[in-house]
Amino acid sequence: MEKLVSLCKRRGFVFQSSEIYGGLNGCWDYGPLGVELLRNVKEEWWRTMTSREDIEGIDASILMHPRVWEASGHVENFTDPMVDCKECKARFRADQIEDAMCGNNAYKGRKAHKCQAEGKFTEARQFNLMFRTFVGPVEEAGSAVYLRPETAQGIYVNFLNVQSSSRQKPPFGIAQIGKAFRNEINTKNFLFRTREFEQMEMQFFVKPGTDEEWFNYWKERRMQWFLGLGIGSEKLQYHRHEPDKLAHYAKDAFDIEYLFPFGWGEIEGIHNRTDFDLSRHEQFSGKAMKYFDEQSKERYTPYIIETSAGASRSFMAFLVDAYREEEAPTSDGKMELRVVMHFHPRLAPIKAAVFPLVNRDGMPEIAQKLETALRASFKVFYDDSGAVGRRYRRQDEIGTPFCLTIDSQTLEDQTVTVRERDTMVQERIGIDRAAAYVREKLHA
Ligand code: ATP
Repeated sequence: MEKLVSLCKRRGFVFQSSEIYGGLNGCWDYGPLGVELLRNVKEEWWRTMTSREDIEGIDASILMHPRVWEASGHVENFTDPMVDCKECKARFRADQIEDAMCGNNAYKGRKAHKCQAEGKFTEARQFNLMFRTFVGPVEEAGSAVYLRPETAQGIYVNFLNVQSSSRQKPPFGIAQIGKAFRNEINTKNFLFRTREFEQMEMQFFVKPGTDEEWFNYWKERRMQWFLGLGIGSEKLQYHRHEPDKLAHYAKDAFDIEYLFPFGWGEIEGIHNRTDFDLSRHEQFSGKAMKYFDEQSKERYTPYIIETSAGASRSFMAFLVDAYREEEAPTSDGKMELRVVMHFHPRLAPIKAAVFPLVNRDGMPEIAQKLETALRASFKVFYDDSGAVGRRYRRQDEIGTPFCLTIDSQTLEDQTVTVRERDTMVQERIGIDRAAAYVREKLHA
C-alpha cells in the first residue's frame, strides 16, 4: 500500500486533500491521471448500465428534503457505535476494535482491544453518520438538511417521474453516479473508507415474486463486470450477509469483495430491498408510489434490487490490482525491475504515448503530427526526453498500453513501432493505421 500511495502522489493519481494545510482526514483529490482513471471507471459502468434498453439514467441533487432521510430510516438507523479512549482520547468504532491500534504514540504497535480490556474506553454511544447543514442564513432545526449519505434515495423518490417520462415498465432500472458523504468515525486504508466518495448505483424495479430471480441475475452480472475489466477471479469473492446481519430493509444481500493488501473489503453491495423503500416514501410523503400495469390491470409496489458500487473503492481496487513489479530486460540485455500498472486498456488514463527516437532528422515533426492525429480520439502523451527504454518505463508505471516510436525506418517506409505494455512485444504498423490500431485494441 505504501508503494502504491507514493506512486499515486508522484505520478499524479491521488493527492491528499488540502495538503498544504496538513490535509483533511478522509478526503482525497484526484490528480491529472487519477481523474482520467476515475472517469474511465465511471464511463465503463455508465455505458454498461445505460446502453441497456431497460435502464435509464438520472442525476439527482445532493441536498434533498429532510423527510427523505426519515422515510429511508437513516435518521433513526444510520448510526455506528462509537467509543472513546479516556486516556489517549482516540475514537473508535466499537464494532471494529479488533483491527484498531491504540492512538497513544507512547504505546506504538499496541492493539486497541488491550486498552479496552483494561477499562480505558467509554461506553459505546450511537453516532449518526450523516453530515448535517442548513439551508438559508439561519441555522435552526427547521432549516436543517443532510448531505446525502447514498445516491439511492434520489432514485427512489423519482421512480414514478422516470417511469412515466421514459415509458418504462417493470422490470426496469434507474442508474446514477454521484457523490455521497458519510461522517465515518475512522477513515482508513487510503480511498477505501473516506468521508466524501462517489457511488455508482443502479436500482432495478421488479414485480414482487420475480425479485429473487432478478437478484441472482444482477449478482452475477456485477461480478462479471469486475472480471471483464481485468480483475483476477482469485481476488474477488461474494460475501453473503447472514440473516441476523441483514440491513433493516433487506431480504437478501451479497457484497462483492476484493482482496486488498489489508484483507478482503466490500467494493459493491447487491441487495434485495423488497418494497421497503417505495412503501416508506408513500407513507411519509402521502403520495402513491405504486405502479399500475395497464395490460394486467394490476397495481403493485415494485420490489427493488439494488446494485451499489463505490466508484472510489472500485477505482482503488483497479489501482491495487494493476500494480506489479516485474523483471524486464534492458536494451543492453541486462535485467531490471519495472513497475507496471496493468490497467485494462479501456481504463488506462493514457491510451498511447508517442516518441520520436531522436530529436532530429524530421522525427519530431512526424511524431507531433501523429500525436495531434491521435489526440482527437484518445488521451495521448508526447515524450522526447531520455533513452527510449526510460520512456517506456515511465509509461509502464502509469499503465499506458501502447507506445508508438518514430525512428529512421519511419522516414523510409512510413511505419512506426508499436510496443505493447504487458508483453513488451514490438511490431511495425503503417503510421496511417495507428489510430485504428489503438481503437481496435481498446474494443477487443
Ligand atoms: P461499509 O460496511 O464498508 O461501511 P456499507 O455496507 O456501509 O460499507 P453501502 O452502504 O452498501 O456500504 O454502500 C455501497 C458502496 O459504497 C460500498 O460497497 C462501497 O463501495 C461504497 N462506500 C460506502 N462507504 C464508503 C466510504 N466511507 N468510502 C468509500 N466508499 C464507500
